[in-house]
Amino acid sequence: MSADGYEPVIGLEIHVQLATRTKMFCGCALGFGEPINTRTCPVCLGHPGALPTLNAEAVRLAIATGLALGSSIAESSIFHRKNYFYPDLPKAYQISQYDEPIASGGQFAVLAEDGITSVGITRAHLEEDAAKLVHLGAGGRRADADESVVDFNRGGTPLLEIVTEPDLRSAAAAAEFLRQLQLTLRHLGVSDCNMEEGSMRADANVSVRPTGSTELGTKTELKNMNSFRFIEQGITRELERQIGLLEAGERIAQETVHFDPDTGAIHVLRSKEEAHDYRYFPEPDLVAIVTEPAAVEEVRSSLPELPSARRARWQEELGITFEDATVLSESVGLAAYFEEVASRADPKLAANWIRNELRSALRDTTKQEPHESAVTPERMAELIGLVADKSLGAKPAREVVLPELIETGDPVSDIVERRDLGQITDEGELYALVDRLFDENPDQLAQLQGGKDKVAGYFVGQAMKATGGKADAARVGEIVRERAGL
Ligand code: ADP
Ligand code: ZN
Ligand code: MG
Repeated sequence: MSADGYEPVIGLEIHVQLATRTKMFCGCALGFGEPINTRTCPVCLGHPGALPTLNAEAVRLAIATGLALGSSIAESSIFHRKNYFYPDLPKAYQISQYDEPIASGGQFAVLAEDGITSVGITRAHLEEDAAKLVHLGAGGRRADADESVVDFNRGGTPLLEIVTEPDLRSAAAAAEFLRQLQLTLRHLGVSDCNMEEGSMRADANVSVRPTGSTELGTKTELKNMNSFRFIEQGITRELERQIGLLEAGERIAQETVHFDPDTGAIHVLRSKEEAHDYRYFPEPDLVAIVTEPAAVEEVRSSLPELPSARRARWQEELGITFEDATVLSESVGLAAYFEEVASRADPKLAANWIRNELRSALRDTTKQEPHESAVTPERMAELIGLVADKSLGAKPAREVVLPELIETGDPVSDIVERRDLGQITDEGELYALVDRLFDENPDQLAQLQGGKDKVAGYFVGQAMKATGGKADAARVGEIVRERAGL
């Protein structure tokens, strides 16, 4: 089997739990891990006659997300009922948005190993989450459970579903899209996007087509994967499965599939339902969401700077590379740390020292991120400054000072003094040293003056030895040539 000759096509559907205080259509508080059925009321339990009331904060967060994704915000959008039966859905319908979502269109650019991909955003719509089945007894699996209960605490949680165009071309790019989206949504305060707790869940629609073809192949839908790694592995396995079928002369059926991370296997679950199976119809108990342009502008002006905008600003104003900017904006804490150091030291050096030296030293020791470590931005800037003005050599800075800084958090000047690492900046001392070395090595001096330029390196080496590495080698080289009359 070979992947050559096939192009992967991937589109994502992402559910994020909105960071509101209460549920989508009732006043029940949101939470995670509370005792079963302690956060319920007649509305979210689907009692007859109980009426939904829309959560205004959820609408605000949806607008903020739409703006961050470059979507247009509908001036009027409505809810629909999506009808189906399941024990975790007491009303036997989910209130969702259908053909009039709150946000449509937009673009979101991601950098992956295969370059920058601009991913089209189809839409983002509001809906409520279902409740949760809890299987009690052996291992929490349905097959060996003694009994199953419905926990309605999660029922009615506000969700935003974001749907992308089928613009992604690799499993790695899909995972990277989700990482960047997570970063952006966290930054906006829209969601904590915690995958393990299910506040961010992704379905991947996957197909392949002959390279060069512009038609879409039949897709399958990989459901509900709860880590970036599993998403990447699952898509990779599903692409292999589809290519295997096509190579064997078989056809792809439009199905829902599941990836088992334990075995790496893909299981086919069911043939997918069509939209008309759900008998969508407009929700009669809610009025339309009307968003005045002025209200949208108000949300826009309240948005923090987005990671993509910050990256561009760093490149332009601080002169650091796209790669450095991408790594250093991986988390809000790290980004703030870098900005703090860069305001006190040379930004390019700061990017380099934080991204490479500091992070790798921390990885080997305390396993912290820079902003969580004992190395405050002030100390880091101090260290970078000493290296930049040559009061401290880069080697001792990296090998002696940095590890001790991570351990103690002491002022860098204290460590340098304690370890007697300060570079010799006294010019007179350097001249005296060179003169002494010339006196002690008249033969080498004669060679140097006779035109053997590389003997200068011999004197620099002697000077470094004599000072325990505390002389600035480049400066010593200059003095050697000057004193030799060259
Ligand atoms: P459905 O009607 O099955 O829900 P949609 O057209 O609404 O399909 O698309 C749902 C998701 O599937 C979107 O993210 C879209 O980008 C993606 N998608 C659609 N067609 C394909 C395809 N052939 N291959 C991969 N992804 C696709
Ligand atoms: Zn409730
Ligand atoms: Mg659809």
